[in-house]
Amino acid sequence: MFESLKKKFSGTIGKISDQFSPEEEEKALEDEKKEKKASNEIKDAEDKTSVKGKEDKSSEDETHLKKTESEKKSRLSFLRRKSEPKDEDSLKKDEKGSKQHEKSLDDSTEGIEKPDNDQTGENAEEEASGLFTFATHKTISPKDIDDILFELELALLEGDVALEVAEQIVKSVKQDLVGRKIKRRSDVAKFTKDALKNAISDILIVEGPDLKKSVNKAQKTGEPYKIMFVGVNGTGKTTTISKIADQFVKEGYTPVIAASDTFRAGAIEQISHHAENIGVKIIRHQKGADPAAVAYDAVEHARAQKKELVLIDTAGRMQTNVNLMDEMKKIQRVVKPDIAIFVGDALTGNDAVEQARKFDDAVGVDGIILTKADADAKGGAALSIGHVINKPILYLGVGQGYGDIMEFHPDWMVEQVLGD
Ligand code: GDP
Repeated sequence: MFESLKKKFSGTIGKISDQFSPEEEEKALEDEKKEKKASNEIKDAEDKTSVKGKEDKSSEDETHLKKTESEKKSRLSFLRRKSEPKDEDSLKKDEKGSKQHEKSLDDSTEGIEKPDNDQTGENAEEEASGLFTFATHKTISPKDIDDILFELELALLEGDVALEVAEQIVKSVKQDLVGRKIKRRSDVAKFTKDALKNAISDILIVEGPDLKKSVNKAQKTGEPYKIMFVGVNGTGKTTTISKIADQFVKEGYTPVIAASDTFRAGAIEQISHHAENIGVKIIRHQKGADPAAVAYDAVEHARAQKKELVLIDTAGRMQTNVNLMDEMKKIQRVVKPDIAIFVGDALTGNDAVEQARKFDDAVGVDGIILTKADADAKGGAALSIGHVINKPILYLGVGQGYGDIMEFHPDWMVEQVLGD
């Protein structure tokens, strides 16, 4: 599932890591060692000074102390000399250079907030002390990642990720990475992976209804919970309704299905066949009957029989068909479903997202079920659809059997595409 999306992200992580060459890594590690050694030397010198000071206050030792201090100073100055500019001119030059670097970073990250670690953390303090100015890190600049992120954006678009989603991922990753200080290649890989994880979680987390809780809540009021399923023909809508019904049956509920797709030849027989398979009551009229009347009868049946849940099938129609959309609105006026769930086929990528948008505009969608995720390598619809219409994916269809449905959790998807 979503293999191609996973490949794209791991490619990006690899390419960004490659910006930090093995030679740079080696140098950084060497410098790190030097820094540690220098720090130890200074510590030793300080320790010696304080011990000597306590031991003896005699003039002979004072002389010795002075000697030790002068040794320390000379050692410190040696350390400073290693990295400090030698004269005022070069000092000015360096300052100018660093300001220019900061400016170019600011220019190219305009509108992007710097991460907390930028210039304010431990490293900055160390640098301010003037003692540890070895180049122990590289700072990620927009130049290091812009081209790679642009490539990622194109790859995501090719993989049917919606434009606004691809743009947001790239923007968020850039915001996260630029200004980060890195010591070794594995840091870059980790930072990039984390940045992608954050970006994707932000996109996938959308507040929405909890089906089971809502059904239980409705049950307490004595009124059945009514779900209207909408979506285009062939996406797997009847199979999905049957999967949901089957899940509730297995948990001890007694759902009723309303065969309100009275438009398509064979639709009533098809859903009746599923209902029979899973042992659920179906309310059906003749082909061509008023879909709202079928839904009304199903709700009346549920009320009379104290059944907790009514699942209303609707004719799978193109989102552009105004008359048929009006019929759906009539079902809404007559039975007032608690929620409308859009069923979309993950394999249709951008089409599924566009359909969801149209259905949401026309009848208002509260949640999404994406079918055929088991066969979907691209993952574009799964990544985009909830964000685009700001409604959560509730379930994924993962096969043709009644049990082949899983609740959708953003964390799970993040792991699928960025897990080890
Ligand atoms: P409808 O016209 O929208 O009601 O679509 P159907 O429910 O009849 O499903 C169309 C086809 O998609 C059928 O062959 C289903 O078995 C298949 N299908 C539905 N959901 C899934 C799914 O999650 N995974 C796979 N692989 N096939 C599915």
